[in-house]
This record gives sequence, structure tokens and C-alpha cells, in this order.
Amino acid sequence: MSANASRLHAIQQISQRQPIAVEKTDFLGNIWAQDVFNLKTMEWALSKTAFKAIKKTAQTGEPLDAATADVVAAAMKEWAIGKGAKFFSHIFYPMTNITAEKHDGFIITNSDGGAITDFSGSLLIKGEPDGSSFPNGSLRMTNAARGYTAWDPTSPAYIMHTDNGATLMIPSVFMSWTGEALDKKIPLLRSNAAMDKAAQKVLRLMGETDVSTLNSSCGAEQEYFLVDTNFANSRPDLLLAGRTLFGAPPAKGQEFDDHYFGAIPARVQVFMQDYEDQLYKLGIPAKTHHNEVAPGQFEIAPYFEAANVAADHQQLMMTLMKSTAKKHGFMCLLHEKPFAGINGSGKHVNWSVGNSTQGNLLDPGSTPHENLLFLLFCGAVIRGVHLYGPLLRAVIASASNDHRLGANEAPPAILSVYLGDQLEKVFTDIKEGNITQTIVGGEMDLGLSQILNFERDPGDRNRTSPFAFTGNRFEFRAVGSSQSVSGPLVAMNTMLADSLDWISSKLEPALEAHGNQAEAVVAVLKELMTEHGNVVFGGDGYSADWHEKAVTERGLKNIPTTADALPALREDSVVQLFERTGVLNPVELESRFEVYAEQYVLSIEVEAKLVIDIAKTSIYPAALDYLSILTSTGAGLAEMGVKLENSTAKTVANNTNSMMKAVESLSSALTKHDFGSTEEHMQFCANDIRPLMDEVRSYADALEADVADELWPLPKYQEMLFIK
Ligand code: ADP
Ligand code: MG
Repeated sequence: MSANASRLHAIQQISQRQPIAVEKTDFLGNIWAQDVFNLKTMEWALSKTAFKAIKKTAQTGEPLDAATADVVAAAMKEWAIGKGAKFFSHIFYPMTNITAEKHDGFIITNSDGGAITDFSGSLLIKGEPDGSSFPNGSLRMTNAARGYTAWDPTSPAYIMHTDNGATLMIPSVFMSWTGEALDKKIPLLRSNAAMDKAAQKVLRLMGETDVSTLNSSCGAEQEYFLVDTNFANSRPDLLLAGRTLFGAPPAKGQEFDDHYFGAIPARVQVFMQDYEDQLYKLGIPAKTHHNEVAPGQFEIAPYFEAANVAADHQQLMMTLMKSTAKKHGFMCLLHEKPFAGINGSGKHVNWSVGNSTQGNLLDPGSTPHENLLFLLFCGAVIRGVHLYGPLLRAVIASASNDHRLGANEAPPAILSVYLGDQLEKVFTDIKEGNITQTIVGGEMDLGLSQILNFERDPGDRNRTSPFAFTGNRFEFRAVGSSQSVSGPLVAMNTMLADSLDWISSKLEPALEAHGNQAEAVVAVLKELMTEHGNVVFGGDGYSADWHEKAVTERGLKNIPTTADALPALREDSVVQLFERTGVLNPVELESRFEVYAEQYVLSIEVEAKLVIDIAKTSIYPAALDYLSILTSTGAGLAEMGVKLENSTAKTVANNTNSMMKAVESLSSALTKHDFGSTEEHMQFCANDIRPLMDEVRSYADALEADVADELWPLPKYQEMLFIK
């Protein structure tokens, strides 16, 4: 079948699609976490002493002793085998945005040649996947490529089912044999510990005596597109790059906003329910789903959880989203910008910190004392975003997210903090010394009662801010849809730890000097706001005015591309931040820079090659076919003495020539290999390769508007976006 015939066939077939039949599952209460080896399961399966030990480990991250590990492993094996598992796998989170697994059987043979099952504590605790091909910066020479995985008992094991089998999955860290972090989980655990330590100190200075371990929490809203598999399969760019490298804008896009929160198409609804049932069985609290702004775009948000568990769950959600979509005849696109000119997809990372004794410290409290704590933690975030804005920009940098940031649909590439009118006023008053001091029950109220009745109306939110306070948490809205949430969480926890340390160092003398908590806190926050208040911005983050003033008046950085953003990981202040807090040593951080830079370069080069390939082998032939029809028809008509009053043939010929010329320039740009540094190579990708790709595309898209529809080889935007 020729390319264009398969496109038309795809449309025909899709029009006849029905939602696939899915077995109805049991009630929520019966399926919830049924495939998770969680504390509830363990309490039932373990002795009292073993359970007590594992519970402590799960809640505080304290190491597990070998004897308990053996008991837990044995119980876990029994449970997993009872669920049909024959294999187990440590699942880990390398520096890419995906997960990795190595599966091993429970089976061993005994001396009689019979098969028995075995799973010891040491197998549970430590795996050896080798994994010499995982990106590691220069951390491991391949000849010393041994990497270890180790169970992270703070994230429960679970069962993954396929149609004819099941595997016990064990969430794990991944490190080099010399102990360096090779993954995204280790820094997340370390950053949480650093934040805990710094927060404990502030809380104790504030007179809190009963302070339990603090944890960061995360609730990530995930946007995604669904495209029918038939279309996706006939688009090499979607298959290999996850986005369309060509495609003229459709006559109707998202202008009408008629998709947003509209009725969910039947096939999609069936997919969502199937998907969410799987999440429930895995103990993932899927909470909200709806249509998003663009046609074909949707969102899912689970209820928030401890950051470490939420990060593991988020990865699992992305994996299951793709596999379940496939089952329902869709390709799930997690790319940040699958369709040019149509809204892209982000992941809003909602983040807060708290514990069981003081509660959520980013939630304004109900007493003046609680509000002082809230203001200190909130101030710490403000300082963090101001000092480490470029770091926050670096951890969300990727070739794909570059398409979204800075476009007027997504938060700008300038990191500022939105507090909302009321809270912004409190901080401004503190900065300017305009605090109204009222005595409430012997304590100074500081005019803070206004934040007790905090507006939580989402309509009040500023959607143009990359980093917004939303009532009881911050929402980092510039994160890309395909990214792991770990990087952003690590950056946020670490900057918070650093700011809380700074606060402690100021608060201690201030408390002595003032002899009054409220006055001391206000004095510290006044200094903080004087130095860092410039990062607070409540206006329109999309406006040209802000783009200018942020830089000239506020001294903030506008960092449009990954090539400009990643070098922040090499800045002294960032290297020292991670070293001081014990989250990443300089070698580990440097390896991250190298891995992310390499990924950036690779993904642009792969796309560039695809652009060349598709232009030459699909679009060029279609244009020539059409030209031959036009010219032979023209010649035939001329014989009859009729002239076609139409210049299409000329336009098509010119655009074809220009496209092929741009293809040649792009091909020759790709042969350049002599770069002085990684930075230089990244800049070349951003400033030379990307524009050439866009140039090829512009001619190809112009051709799409002229070439006969039945000859066009690639499914078009309106088909992919609107046919469900
Ligand atoms: P919206 O789209 O209005 O931002 P959603 O309800 O879609 O809101 O998503 C909000 C996300 O924030 C959810 O995942 C929710 O569980 C999470 N969340 C709520 N409170 C907190 C908190 N204290 N810490 C972290 N995440 C939170
Ligand atoms: Mg949100």
C-alpha cells in the first residue's frame, strides 16, 4: 500500500473503531492496593518484631538489619508467588526519564535436580544489574561498570501483571560500586534528609520540642495527548521522536476552547477507567481526570503522597499510561510539544513539606505562632527560588521542554514566585516595616489573621507563573510532561534546606536580641525580603513588559534554551549548594551535567536526521507526484488551447526546491563534530541545527497546504487531533 493510501485507510478504519471491551473490576475498596506489599500486608504477614523494624525503616529510612531483611524477603516471596509471580525485579531510576528493570527468577535447583524457590534478604536488599550502558556521565568506566541496585524500603514493592504472568517489582536505588549515585532516587532521598535536618533546627529554635521527621510531599498533575495508533504508526516522527516534525496548522485548532473540560470521548473514557483501575490496584491514588485545552489532550492528577513514593508512582503512571493506551488503540504522547501551534503538555509539581507533629509547614495555621512558622518556611522558598532560579531552570531543561517554556501557553523561562495578593502584601509589609501589630491573647498577631482565611479559590491563581503558591503548597508549573519529578523535587528540597539553614543562622541571634519570637521572625524576614523580594511577581508572566523588566529591573534571568540552562549545574554556587547539603558531591553533579547535555544533543540530532529522512523520502516524492499531475494536465490543456490560470505548480516547485536546499544545509550542519566543549556543542544544536529544522519544516508545511490531499503521505493535524 502506498504511503498516502495507508493514511486514507487509517482514517477509514478509525471511523469504525469501538471502545474495547474491558472487564468490569470490583469495588474500589476491594481492589485498592491489592498488588502492593505495603505496611498493611506486612503487618499481616510478619512477626510483631519484624513488622516493628520494617515499619520504622519505612517511615524514617533507617537501615534494615540483615535478620529482618531475611524475614521480610521470605514473606514477600510467599506473597508474590501467591499472586502468580515467578520473577522479581529491582526497578530503578537512571538519569534518563525512564525506569530500568532486570528480572530474575525465584527459582533455583537443589542437589536432587529439583526446582525450589529462593529469595533471601540479601537478594532483596542488593541486586547487581551491571547496566554498563546506562548514562553515567564519566562516573564509571565501562570496564568497571558494576552498578548496584538496593531496595528502598520507604517505597513499597508491588506486582506488575501481564496477560500471562506477574513479576514482583522492588523499588531501588542505583549506585556505582564506589557508592556514587547513578540515579534519580538517591539524590531525592538525600535532599529530603537535608531538608529534614535544616527544618528541625528552625522548628527547635522556634521553641518546638516535639518534632517528628519531616518529609516533602508531591502531587503531580500530568498532561498528555492521545492519538489513534493508526495515525501514529504512519508518522515516523511520532514513533521515533514523540512529536510531529512536520504538519500544517489545522483550520480549526483550540481557538474555541471547546475541548477544555468538555465531555470525554467514549473511547478515551474507557481507556481512563481501565488505566485508573490498574493504578488503584497498585495503590496509586488517581483522583482527577479531565480534557485539557488542546483537542486530543487530557490530564490526570493523583492525590499527593510522600515525595519519594510519589516520584516512583509518577514513573509507574507514565509507563502504564503508555501501555494501557496502546491496548485501547491509542498512542499516548508525553512529549512537551507534540503539535506545533497547539498547546503543549506540562507536569505541575505540587510540593509541600511537613510532618506529623507540626503538620504542613506551607499551610497558614490557625494561631499566630503557626503563622510565624508558615511565614518562615514560605520565606525560605522565596529566598531559594531567587538564589537558585537558574538551577530550577536547569532541572526542567530538555530539548522537548524548550518548545514549551517561553511560548505563551506555558510558564515563562524566567523563574519568579507568585504568592497571591494577600500573602504578597504580608511579605511586602514585612519588607517595608509596615506590620500592624495587634495583641491577640498576649501574642503579637502581626496582622496575620488575614492569611488565616486564605483564599483557596483556584480561579484566583495566576496561571502565568512558573512557581506559584496555591494555598498550602507551591506549584512548580514549568516542569515538562515527560520529565521525572525527581529532579525538580531534589532542587526544591535542597534550596529549601539551604534557606532554612540561613534562617537558623539569622534567627538564633535575632531571638536573643529581640527576646520575642514575632519580632525576631519579622527582622529575619525583613532582611530576607530586602535581598530576595525581587523574585516575587504577581503580574502577567506572559507579557513582553515582564520579559523586559524581569531582567532589567529585577535582575532575574531569562533562560530560553537548555543550552543556556544546563551550565548552571556547573556554577560554583550550585556545586557548593549540593556539596554543603550532602545531596550530590561535585563528581556526581558533574556527571549529571554531562548526561543531560548528551541527551539534549542526541535528541536534537535524532530529530534532525528524521527531518531529513521524512523530507526526502515522503514529502519530496509527494510534491513531485503532484507536480507531474499539474504539469501534464497543463500540457494537455495547452494542446487544447486552454491555459490554467493558476500558479500552484510554480509555488509547489519553488517550495520543493527551497525545502531540498534547506535539507542539504541541515545535512551538512550535522557533519560538524569538532566542538571545543559540550557547551559549544549544545549552543550549535540550539542556534544552528534547530533553526535549519524549522526552515525545512516551513517549506514542507507550505507544500502540505498545496499538494492534493489524496497524495499527502502523513496524517494531518486535523485528523490526528480530532478523530477519536
Ligand atoms: P489544579 O489543577 O487546580 O492545580 P488539581 O486538583 O488538578 O488542581 O491538582 C492539585 C494537586 O496538588 C493534586 O495532586 C493534589 O493532591 C496536590 N496537593 C494538594 N495539597 C498538596 C500538598 N499539601 N502538598 C503537595 N501536593 C498537594
Ligand atoms: Mg495545578
